[in-house]
Amino acid sequence: MKNLFYNFFLYAIIASLIESCSIFNTSTIPKKAYLTDEKLINAIELTNCILDSITIFDIVFNDSIKNELNSNQIPIIETFGARDPMIFVPKGYAEIHINRAALSSYLAEYSAKDKKKLNVYPEYLLCLLLLHEVGHINYHDYGLFFDDSSTLNTQMTLAKEMELRADRFAANCIKKKIDNYGPCMLDASMISMSISSMSWNLSMNRIVYHWSDITNSKMYDQSYSHPNLELRFLVLANEFTNSVDSVDSNDLIEDFLKRRQENPLDTLFIKGKH
Ligand SMILES: [Zn+2]
Repeated sequence: MKNLFYNFFLYAIIASLIESCSIFNTSTIPKKAYLTDEKLINAIELTNCILDSITIFDIVFNDSIKNELNSNQIPIIETFGARDPMIFVPKGYAEIHINRAALSSYLAEYSAKDKKKLNVYPEYLLCLLLLHEVGHINYHDYGLFFDDSSTLNTQMTLAKEMELRADRFAANCIKKKIDNYGPCMLDASMISMSISSMSWNLSMNRIVYHWSDITNSKMYDQSYSHPNLELRFLVLANEFTNSVDSVDSNDLIEDFLKRRQENPLDTLFIKGKH
C-alpha cells in the first residue's frame, strides 16, 4: 500500500494534463453537461470506431429501418418513460434503449466541470456506457437486471457478474484500440484516462462528502443487480494498468472491499441507515 494514493493521484493528474489531445475542444465543453444530439452523435461515432465488427446506429424512430438491420447492427431507441433506466438493453431485443432525461442527469453529474473533480468528457463516458451495453448484447444477457430490489448488500449475484463481464468487454474493446495505434487510438486512451478520473472522483466524493458516515454505506452495492459504482470503476481502472502498476491498483480494490466490511451490514440495518 506504500505510495498507493500518491500513484493513483499522479495517474489522474496526468489524465487531466493530456486532455488537450482529445478530438473534443476543451473550450466547447459546457459547465453543465447534458445530452445534446451533437454529444450523442460524437459518442456513437467514437463507439463505432472502437468496435470492430459491430455498428451502433443513430436513434432509430422507424420500425422499417430497424427491421432492415442485420445482427451486427444495433439500433438505439429513445424511450420516454419516467421510470425507464437511463440506458439499457430490453429483455429479448438486441437494441440499446436510452432515456435521454435520465442519461442527461447522469452525464451532467459525472461530467460537469467542478474544481473539486477531474474532468470527464460526457462523450467519453457515454461511449463507455454504449460499449458496456454492446457487451450485454454480445453475451445475450438482455434486460436481466430488471428483477431487482434495492437493498444495501455485498452479495455476489449472477446479475452483478454479468455487469462486470459487460464492463470487461468494454475495457477490452478500448484496450485493443490503444494497442493497435488505429484511427481512434488517442480517444481510446482518453477513455481509459476518464475511467481513472471517474474512479478518483467517486472516491473523493465519498471521502470528502461522506466522511462522517461510519457505516460506510456508500461502499455497499445499492441493489442485487449492479455492483457498487465506485468499485466498478476501480475494477475497470485496474484493467488498464500494466504489470508494474497492477499491484497498486489491485490494492485499491482490496482496500475498498476490506473497508466496506469493517462495519457489518447488520449494523447498518440496526441503525436504519439504508
Ligand atoms: Zn449493464
